[in-house]
Amino acid sequence: MDSTLPAVAEELLKKIKKVFQETSHVPDNLLLGLKFIFGPSALPALDLVDQRSVTRVTSPSGRTAYQVLGSSGKLYTCYSSCHFCTCPAFGFTVLQKSESLLCKHILAVYLSQAMGACQELTVSEEQLSSILLAEEEDEG
Ligand SMILES: [Zn+2]
Repeated sequence: MDSTLPAVAEELLKKIKKVFQETSHVPDNLLLGLKFIFGPSALPALDLVDQRSVTRVTSPSGRTAYQVLGSSGKLYTCYSSCHFCTCPAFGFTVLQKSESLLCKHILAVYLSQAMGACQELTVSEEQLSSILLAEEEDEG
């Protein structure tokens, strides 16, 4: 992981990982902690994890990106290494207004890592590049 999250958030994710490995369950007190730290992103992020919406995309050279299938059916690309997501909410509430630490997609990536719930996809370097470059693509 990285240093873009406050220590308390990293601690919480570590705790969730540990408890989840032992019990396959996230207890209420940790859920409350998630809601407290991440606000309205917490529950939608858990839903995304439940639905196995997070895919870790890896290339042969070891480059990694995450793709998260949003609730609207749109696929967003998240870079956990640099704490960035291509969704509008990230640009607006995180970057412009600094209201949130992260969007539900990045939180879903962190939670999927903690809970071992990532789907795995291996692609070629070319395919990964096109995923990374497609971030500004307008599908409308
Ligand atoms: Zn997002």
